[in-house]
Amino acid sequence: MRRFTAYVLLTFLFLSGCSAPADPDTAQESIQVIAMDTAMLITTYGEHSVTAAYAAEDRIRELESALSRTDPDSEVSRLNAAGGEAVEISGDLQTILSQSAQYSQETGGAFDITVAPAATAWGFTADRFQIPSQTELDRLLPLVDSSQVSIIPSLDSSGDGPKATARLGPGQSVDLGAIAKGYAADQLCKVFDANEIPRALADLGGNVLAWGDRPDGAPWRVGIQDPAHPDDKNALVGVLEIVDSFAVTSGSYQRYFEQDGKRYHHIIDPATGYPADSGLTSVTVVAGTGSGSGAMCDAYSTALFIMGEEKALDFWRSQLNGSLFSLVLVTEDGRVVVADKINRFAFAPNEDSGYAYETAS
Ligand code: ADP
Ligand code: MG
Repeated sequence: MRRFTAYVLLTFLFLSGCSAPADPDTAQESIQVIAMDTAMLITTYGEHSVTAAYAAEDRIRELESALSRTDPDSEVSRLNAAGGEAVEISGDLQTILSQSAQYSQETGGAFDITVAPAATAWGFTADRFQIPSQTELDRLLPLVDSSQVSIIPSLDSSGDGPKATARLGPGQSVDLGAIAKGYAADQLCKVFDANEIPRALADLGGNVLAWGDRPDGAPWRVGIQDPAHPDDKNALVGVLEIVDSFAVTSGSYQRYFEQDGKRYHHIIDPATGYPADSGLTSVTVVAGTGSGSGAMCDAYSTALFIMGEEKALDFWRSQLNGSLFSLVLVTEDGRVVVADKINRFAFAPNEDSGYAYETAS
């Protein structure tokens, strides 16, 4: 739709003999991309804003067609259907699989892409929600084990020779839903760099990339949703002010179903096969584009949600003494805990939200 608009506009400029280049100071393009099961909004600034915005869309679509678990033709679906046999994989999938292995290890297994069979048993893959029996979960839990995933890198660096391959354990499958959008944000950094984009804001559904600062020189403002009021987009626990950063939120309010008055959400604790019940309702991880990555923030936000407040803060402290990333935790008992050792962001609490605000050190 937007492509069509841009095409019409270009044609008009051409026909009227006008070839004015985009004003580098004011040029801006905003596109919406429906992909990866969410509505994304990408706004780019600068001379090459239009080229960069559509290159970003192309890259996201390329990733979606490789990484989707519901598209039977995707690389991930082929890997999941291979029954433990080795399958050739692209560079993107190879990178994501090895990053996922690293994040699993670092988080003591809280982040684990092989949680897929358990997530499916709850109906989160096909939106046919149900509570699986304990017998079924007991049968599936041995499959939740990322140490059974092996990646055999290509020995040929030219790219023309044999590709890298990956192999799952028998009966295993992977779901990249907790890392794919973060990885996509990392790829957008490359697109923006290549197109010399001075500033951009990309919201990839709970995964925000703030590139540079705002056109008026102020930081980008990113609201953190109040998990108690997920349908009211103006209900915020506070606003983050960030520059050159990723900010990724995982919460129990994003996808869930209710049965007999109890809520079952989509973040599964690999240790139990059940939706994580850790006392947190959301976790926001913020890291700089220079030192952290979108994939890391995405994986950590999911893992720290499962760990709960105490373990999440211990993990935060253990990573470069709290300076690798910063955190905003929202707890079930009505607190917002901010952990930011290096003033990576300014956080403006919403005093009307009813939460009690604390800082962790
Ligand atoms: P969202 O994708 O809603 O932004 P997350 O990044 O937290 O939220 O990812 C949740 C998705 O990741 C789930 O829908 C499921 O597909 C998958 N998933 C669930 N539990 C885990 C887990 N422990 N480790 C890795 N992936 C998970
Ligand atoms: Mg995640």
